[in-house]
Amino acid sequence: MKKISYALLVLILAIALSCSKDTKDKPTENGINKAPNQLNTGQSANDFLSAENYTRIEIEILYVKNYRLNTQTITNFKNFIAARLNKPGGIIVSEREVEPTGFAPYSIDEIANLENLYRSKYNNTNILTLYVFCADGKAETDTNNSFTLGTAYRNTSFVLYENTIQRNSGGIGQPSRVNLETTVMLHEFCHLLGLVNLGSPMVNAHQDTAHGKHCDNQNCLMNWQVENEGAVDMLFGGNIPELDINCKNDLIANGGK
Ligand SMILES: [Zn+2]
Ligand SMILES: [Zn+2]
Repeated sequence: MKKISYALLVLILAIALSCSKDTKDKPTENGINKAPNQLNTGQSANDFLSAENYTRIEIEILYVKNYRLNTQTITNFKNFIAARLNKPGGIIVSEREVEPTGFAPYSIDEIANLENLYRSKYNNTNILTLYVFCADGKAETDTNNSFTLGTAYRNTSFVLYENTIQRNSGGIGQPSRVNLETTVMLHEFCHLLGLVNLGSPMVNAHQDTAHGKHCDNQNCLMNWQVENEGAVDMLFGGNIPELDINCKNDLIANGGK
C-alpha cells in the first residue's frame, strides 16, 4: 500500500514540475527574446546599477483594479533609481490596469505565470526593463500572524501584495500608505540590485545569514523585517528606512552610485 502511494506522489510531483517548466520558460515568443528577463533574482544587478550594458530603464507596473500605487510612491521610486543607478538615458514608467485574476491567494508560480501573460516590455538594445505586479490578494504562505508584503522572484520582476499593504497602512496606529508602499517597493527592488550578497558582492560582511539575503543592521532598508509584518513596526516612527553604509557600498562597488 505504501509503495502505491509513493508512486502516486512521484507522478504528481513530476506533472507539477513539467507544468511549471512549460508555463515559465518560453525564452522566445512572437519573436521576442524573453530569456534575459527570466534569470534568477540578483543576476542582473550590474545591469541595473551600471550603464555598461543598459543606459535606460523602462518600468512596467501592472495593477489589479483598485490596487494602483499612490502617485507619490512612484515618484519616490524614481527618485531612488536616479540617486543609485547610472541610467543617463532616462527612467520611464508606464502603468496598466488589469481585471481581478481569480488566483488570489497567490503562489509564486502563479505570479510568474501572470507575468508571462501581462508583461509587454523586455530588454532591448540599451534598454533594461523592469516588471512590477500589484496583486489584489495575499501570498498563499501568509498565516494568521505572519504575512508577506512583497517578493522579488526573478532578475527583473517583483510582486507587491498591495491588498496586504493597504490592509496594514493608512489607518489609526498604522504607517501611511505611501510610506509602506515605498518601503516594500524599494526593498524588493534592492534584491534585484543584488542585496545582500545576491549578485552584488559584499564590500564588508553584513549579511544576516539567519534570514537569507538580508542586512544585519536592524534599521536598514534591507533588514529582513521590511518585507513582512515587521515593516509595520519599523515604520511606526514615520520615516522610510534607508540603506545603511554597508548596503550603499555594495551598490557602488557593483557599478551604482
Ligand atoms: Zn527581502
Ligand atoms: Zn544594509
